[in-house]
Amino acid sequence: MQPLSPVDALRRIAFLLERAREPTYRVRAFRTAAATIEALPQEELERRAAHGTLTDLKGIGKVTATAITEALAGEVPVYLRRLEATEGRPVAEGGAEIRAALRGDLHTHSDWSDGGSPIEEMALAARELGHEYFALTDHSPRLTVANGLSPQRLRDQLDLVAELNEKLDGIRILTGIEVDILEDGSLDQEPELLERLDVVVASVHSKLRMPKREMTQRMVRAIANPHTDVLGHCTGRLVTGGRGRRPESEFDPDVVFAACAKFDVAVEINSRPERLDPPKRLLRLAVEAGCSFAIDTDAHAPGQLDWQPYGCERAAACGVPVEKIVNTRSADELLAWSNG
Ligand SMILES: [Zn+2]
Ligand SMILES: [Zn+2]
Repeated sequence: MQPLSPVDALRRIAFLLERAREPTYRVRAFRTAAATIEALPQEELERRAAHGTLTDLKGIGKVTATAITEALAGEVPVYLRRLEATEGRPVAEGGAEIRAALRGDLHTHSDWSDGGSPIEEMALAARELGHEYFALTDHSPRLTVANGLSPQRLRDQLDLVAELNEKLDGIRILTGIEVDILEDGSLDQEPELLERLDVVVASVHSKLRMPKREMTQRMVRAIANPHTDVLGHCTGRLVTGGRGRRPESEFDPDVVFAACAKFDVAVEINSRPERLDPPKRLLRLAVEAGCSFAIDTDAHAPGQLDWQPYGCERAAACGVPVEKIVNTRSADELLAWSNG
């Protein structure tokens, strides 16, 4: 392993912990420490390391101080070396060809809603993964538990994204939203704003137990909405993990996937390990229906952006054709599709 700068070493540790599904609060110490020392002149950093006074700085504890000192000495910090040994490998082995074809991610969250990191940190991690672009899709107003964005907050976010795109090289942040599909199938944001956004992921987050017939109508109405580009985690199921289990919502998959194919809405292959949505039997039906797909991470932290291989593995297993995956396209081709 190449030695990294102290900032890069701390960020790499955070990335690997997030990727290994550690909760954001446990990872925060490393990201906070990275931000603290990034703002520090190099001489002060070296002097403090030499005198053992790094821990006097706000946000630097014993573990982070040790890692910084080791990195300054040109070594790979022991903490990082241990993590690389156990967590540095790809999260899933199948679907490597599909993963290699992906150029971006269309479903991610920042600390503007229920994500754990600022937009810029998400962007840096996406660039590090080799993405050309990613869509920032924070939650919509009625998802108050996830601090969904009001129209005004979304407008403010659009200004910030424009600034970041001016500033950052090598990665393009697409504007977007994960908009709630309300009970009647309408979308939870002003149409004028939805119109402005690059990518609209529409997802069901409430009343998941609705009767099959109503749920089918609700989803089809959202799919037929001209602003919708991607149908997010279509069954809402949770298969494992700290959030417990949740069964699939019931809808008529033939009708829903036919609507996706007709209205050119991509079916999301959600890569989150606790979701793995849609299940394989439905994924195969969507392939047969001729749908397009988006392999997304639904990342709520930078390290989770590297969960795409979970989705790629399932896509490969279910025979999803690479040319049907919209995020294998260039940003311009993608935008021509989503704005079309
Ligand atoms: Zn969601
Ligand atoms: Zn999401």
